[in-house]
Amino acid sequence: MQAQDAINAGPADPKVAAALRQIDAKQIQASIDKLVSFQNRSTLSAQDAASVSAGHGIGAAREWIKSEFAKDSQACGGCLEVKTDTFTEGPVDRIPQPTEITNVYAVLKGTDPESTKRIVLVTGHYDSRNSDNLNVTDAAPGANDDGSGTAVSLECARVLSQLKFPATIVFLTVAGEEQGFNGSRHFAQMAKAQGWDIEAVLNDDIVGGDRSAQQDPSVIRVFSEGVPVAASDTDLRLIRNLGGESDSASRQLARYVAQVSRTYDAGVKPALTFRLDRYLRGGDHLSFNQQGFAAVRFTEYREDYHHQHQNVRTEDGIEYGDLPKFVNFEYVAAVARLNAATLASLASAPAPPGKVHLLTKELQNDSTLTWEAVPGAASYEALWRSTTSPEWEHTQSAGNATRLTLPMSKDNVIFAVRSVAKDGQRSLPVVPVPER
Ligand SMILES: [Zn+2]
Repeated sequence: MQAQDAINAGPADPKVAAALRQIDAKQIQASIDKLVSFQNRSTLSAQDAASVSAGHGIGAAREWIKSEFAKDSQACGGCLEVKTDTFTEGPVDRIPQPTEITNVYAVLKGTDPESTKRIVLVTGHYDSRNSDNLNVTDAAPGANDDGSGTAVSLECARVLSQLKFPATIVFLTVAGEEQGFNGSRHFAQMAKAQGWDIEAVLNDDIVGGDRSAQQDPSVIRVFSEGVPVAASDTDLRLIRNLGGESDSASRQLARYVAQVSRTYDAGVKPALTFRLDRYLRGGDHLSFNQQGFAAVRFTEYREDYHHQHQNVRTEDGIEYGDLPKFVNFEYVAAVARLNAATLASLASAPAPPGKVHLLTKELQNDSTLTWEAVPGAASYEALWRSTTSPEWEHTQSAGNATRLTLPMSKDNVIFAVRSVAKDGQRSLPVVPVPER
């Protein structure tokens, strides 16, 4: 048995630790400055060839992101597949004319034939806005919202593409977020329709660590849904009966991020925030949640609303606008390190155990868990916590068995099971369904 503080995602891998040290605040600053240089990255802004070559508008941003991924791929002997997902949206609310929207992504294919189908994904949105969501002419720098998240995706691609992982990592940047999550919705629907096995989505949106006096740069919030937005009526009945409202797949992912932060010191600590998102706000992780994928949102501890969705101006001595000078690039680098460490840990780990069940045939004070073996797992372990605890508190190895009986009542704790690789990397945990 282990104490909660000792429960991590497995031992640190020296190669991953070395890659994390390469994450560079100066590189992130250069990415954000470049994105801001396109002046206005509204999804409705220019994307014709002349504007692209003049370096104005969302089309220029899109081409630049492609070229960055292509550069990373060249540096690793073509290890990245650089792709786009383009579609036309509108007229709909906040998109008055039919508008082409393009998501840009790079795929680092997993090297293990059994695990390459498993996908972990990091995303940020490269579109921006100012005070008027339909304004495509005035500056909309979007340095923090969401140049910072875009830079995290790019920086994760740059350093992780130098390594190889059993499972696949996708580095995504989407457009259309400010119009209504159009880019991420299209991408998540495509992934669902094509049967992609996405285990985890990390959405970074407003991770710039705005330099306001009340900011806490030691903390990054990690938002996760409780009752899944994609839950069926049967799911909801189980959640109600068993107290499962804090055990969605997204919440397990959030807890995993906390475990990763105990394996690797990223320079910033996750503050698990048990709600889908902030008041009055939404984000691209919702698009993935709606398709049933585990997805969480990273956002700085304290936001400064003068620096979001505002025309650049000074009024009554207050500076408005989402400018690079308000961004703490060291903070973004730390957030990128936590993201990269999570991607690397999950992509190194085996698949989660299959068909995890808790036997409930008769009333008894012991608890028996069963599951199906998965490729790449050398052993399995049970996790449990008190029903009132936010994080997993104890573990018990089951060796390579697929069944474990624990001398405690299932009524008093919440259980899960996770897979453990030969080198100790841990999978996401799976909460059992009752079997009668
Ligand atoms: Zn945003």
